[in-house]
Amino acid sequence: MYNMSKMILKRGSYQTSKILAFSMTLLLSCFIAEAQNYFRYPLDSLPHFVSPFGGLRDNHFHSGIDLKTNEREGLPVYACADGYISRIKIQSIGYGKAIYIDHPNGHTTVYGHLQKYHGKIAEWIHAYQYKNQSFEFDKVFEKPLLFVKKGDTIGFSGNSGGSTGPHLHFEIRNTKSEEIINPALFGINPFDTLCPTIQKLCFYKFTTEAAVIFKEIDLTSKKLIKSDSLWILKDTLQLENNYLGMGIETYDYIHNASDRKNIYRYETYIDGKNNFSFTLNQFAFDQSKYINAHIDYNYYKRNQVRIQKCFVDDGNEIPLYTCDKNKGRITLLDDKIHEMKIRVFDASGNTVILLFYVVLKKSVQGAKHAKNTKAFYPLKANDIKQKDFTFHLDAKSIYDTLFYDCKVLPKIKRAYSKTYQIHHSSVPLHKSADIAIKVDKVRKEYQNKLLLAYFDKNEKKFRSAGGAYENGFVKGKASVFGSYFVSIDTLAPTVERVFIDKENPSVDTMYWHFEVKENFSGIAKNEAYLNNQWILLDYDAKSNLLSYKFDEVYFEFLIENMKRLNQNLPVVKPELLLRVYDKKGNMTEYKVSINL
Ligand SMILES: [Zn+2]
Repeated sequence: MYNMSKMILKRGSYQTSKILAFSMTLLLSCFIAEAQNYFRYPLDSLPHFVSPFGGLRDNHFHSGIDLKTNEREGLPVYACADGYISRIKIQSIGYGKAIYIDHPNGHTTVYGHLQKYHGKIAEWIHAYQYKNQSFEFDKVFEKPLLFVKKGDTIGFSGNSGGSTGPHLHFEIRNTKSEEIINPALFGINPFDTLCPTIQKLCFYKFTTEAAVIFKEIDLTSKKLIKSDSLWILKDTLQLENNYLGMGIETYDYIHNASDRKNIYRYETYIDGKNNFSFTLNQFAFDQSKYINAHIDYNYYKRNQVRIQKCFVDDGNEIPLYTCDKNKGRITLLDDKIHEMKIRVFDASGNTVILLFYVVLKKSVQGAKHAKNTKAFYPLKANDIKQKDFTFHLDAKSIYDTLFYDCKVLPKIKRAYSKTYQIHHSSVPLHKSADIAIKVDKVRKEYQNKLLLAYFDKNEKKFRSAGGAYENGFVKGKASVFGSYFVSIDTLAPTVERVFIDKENPSVDTMYWHFEVKENFSGIAKNEAYLNNQWILLDYDAKSNLLSYKFDEVYFEFLIENMKRLNQNLPVVKPELLLRVYDKKGNMTEYKVSINL
């Protein structure tokens, strides 16, 4: 509660006169009450989360909350407060169909993965898409145009974009800074009286580069003296390193959900003194990738379990930590028994404390830094320059010093270059690296079809990293460490008409659906025409589906045909022309006449 109040106070710079009139305590409760009632829940149901704020995801902290829609689409989505539409973004990936509303209290609410929009908003979007001949767009409204009242229906919940199941993605942002704020701070939080749990406790030593686990304790099997919220480890732990860090595997449980959620806060204490805490209150969208420094990335890659560190890497800049100058790292200076405490909270204030005692096994030295010439450093730019290969990392691309592994591997069949291995995907990259690989002889007409392909050790599948030919090299971006070589994409995507619901063809009576498949470089764009008139197709990248929902173009066509019938003229068949391009300019033209 303390943190929440402090944060809301910081934001409540208005009503200065009131500040003088009331006592601090009264004022605090005023602000909290106001903040808690400002936003309504965007669905009809009581708050129920699929995923709380800041959930630990692949390559990002979840920058909002996912609201449960009971595995269904089409639930009305309401404006959380009065305001105006400040941005509409439609993508075949990401948030899919999304809407942003600016509110007079200085905050923006975001609603993602919508199935469709409602009323005047839907009309505006349809006209805009036809005007610009594009399904995808990102429109920021400089001046307010579409106003909403608290509780107005703005759209319907769905599964569009990169969603993996029907739900509503919801965010509260600071309008000015665009930082994303935990909605629990505004009272949007499910009813929850269940305590979090800690599954695993790890101890790290700091070697010349990454932190390495030297002791791992499974708390589910270890003998604990246990109540709901206080767990005490019976045995004193003997530690053989005097300079160490900790990490925990921890989850939260909520009512009516069988899966485990992420926690809100955790803190560590040595001999009663707090030395580290992590709180999911607020962060900037472009900081969400620091998840890869927050968790033990290597452990996650090997075990698919996320150990959250109780110390901060030098290259980790997300502002979720409060800690001493050692950034949570602990030095044990004597051979006495020390009391350690780890406390975990969920956003409803339920908490669990793990209490244990440690003692240094024998006098040991902290790690010494060995000299190594092949190293990347986190705060500066790093380069590898060879005759046929260059690799460049901007400053702050890695989180910790890395003694990297780099070698030339045998040429792969049908590759257009040697293969260059640059370390392994067990180490994360915060920013993409610039990479250039010299191309073997290639016919001129194939030069613009070349791209960079990559794989990680033990992987047989190659993936496209994009890139383009330039002066004998293919240059592109590497978003992960791995093995890279030059490859080619000369195959166009394929297109096929499909019927979504074979059991129930009536579902398809308002739509034409097409399935698009692409082998390597990825889909770049598509365009469709109905008897030479541009038509709007909805594109869903995860299902490879292009859909035309009958609209005014089709209806005008029908009316035209009715007129022809009245004049005893032959009707014109609807003919659809579809062009789909991949990222290397390979194009498929698909024509179909559709029976009326
Ligand atoms: Zn989400």
